[in-house]
Amino acid sequence: MSQKYAAVKGMNDLLPPDIAVWQHVERTARKTLLRYGFHEIRTPIVEDTALFVRSVGEGTDIVGKEMYTFDDKGGRSITLRPEGTASAARAYIEHAMHQKEAVTRWFYMGPMFRYERMKTGRYRQFYQLGVEAYGVAEPAQDVEVMECVMHWLQELGLKDVKLQVNSLGDETCRPAFAARVKEYFEAHREQLSPDALETLSKNPLRLFDSKEEALKPLIAKAPILFDSLDDASRNHFTEVTRQLSMLGVPYELNPRLVRGLDYYTRTVFEFIAADPVLGTASAVGGGGRYDNLISELGGPKTPAVGFAMGLDRLALLLNGRSDALQHRPDLFLVSVDAAAHDEVMRLARSLRHQGLAVEFDARAGSVKSQMKRADKSRAMYALVLGEKELAEQKGNLKPMREELPAREVQLEDLARVLKGLG
Ligand code: AMP
Repeated sequence: MSQKYAAVKGMNDLLPPDIAVWQHVERTARKTLLRYGFHEIRTPIVEDTALFVRSVGEGTDIVGKEMYTFDDKGGRSITLRPEGTASAARAYIEHAMHQKEAVTRWFYMGPMFRYERMKTGRYRQFYQLGVEAYGVAEPAQDVEVMECVMHWLQELGLKDVKLQVNSLGDETCRPAFAARVKEYFEAHREQLSPDALETLSKNPLRLFDSKEEALKPLIAKAPILFDSLDDASRNHFTEVTRQLSMLGVPYELNPRLVRGLDYYTRTVFEFIAADPVLGTASAVGGGGRYDNLISELGGPKTPAVGFAMGLDRLALLLNGRSDALQHRPDLFLVSVDAAAHDEVMRLARSLRHQGLAVEFDARAGSVKSQMKRADKSRAMYALVLGEKELAEQKGNLKPMREELPAREVQLEDLARVLKGLG
């Protein structure tokens, strides 16, 4: 018996016709991001393990439980990237970008890997699009990246995605707040699960992120960071929200928003879609400011802000539009006999070189089976070529979808006619 292979658990094949939605999301992102002056980077899919441990943070679920880490044949510990910000920061430092330009604006797209428990909208290989803006400490940069995501979502027709914002303060005010939160939860230890107790000992702020129902009432009464922000962080946040309002970008304050990575300072934000297709995976993306990451990784002190959007979840939200996004060839050519098949091949080649999308069935076969293929291809028109058509050098363009009359066409006019018909 032959062995049956399947994709690794939690990792999906993306095939036509579903891929059309992904391509639409990516195309729209590239177009929108270029308008904002963000330029694409591509970094390796693996990095030194230490990079992620240092940047994402030792106390996080990602580093603690979810990384695909292994030794390569040279005995180096490497990790499949669980997110993109660390790799981009490493590249920013390695290429000494700060010496080349005061402000660097990058975006990336690609697969990320986390060994997570799977459910709807949560996979072990998933795709993110991320933006990173380096070199600007002003609130306007936070606002521009948030506004850019909202613009992209609007271009995709996703109007129901909500932007939530919060401030995590920075190194001057966060430690005291973390201590207060720890004290608060310590006082309610008896209500905490073993998992929650572990989070409390490692990274108490992450308790705000817990999905445990039993914890919700406790979280609701916990102290909030906004009350403990120092003046600089408070002013920064006030300016961020003022500018969002000034631009008419709708947002909600969420004082419990903490995000799952350690490197954020001040502004954090998340994009939430309350759509049942996502199950409980309602966050489609998030980001924030990370003013210390570059220096912590050995680079110069460089303010930065960025976000990552989950493309799998955007694709789930857009699945209903898959039909309208499918590719449609301009023409499907059908041959009646062997001589006509040669002409079909010649004609297809010529029309393709003139910029048209043309298909035919290389197996030839019966006209009926070729017409079936024509229908399946979703072509706008079919054209059957036989002895008569070759002799007269003209044929009948048969519309395949729309209720349009057939139309006679000289073969030499085909390209012009098809282009005119759009
Ligand atoms: P994060 O890097 O955890 O802030 O995630 C940013 C976005 O990436 C999330 O809002 C999700 O849309 C997406 N994402 C994160 N983890 C997964 C996963 N395991 N499967 C699918 N999407 C994910």
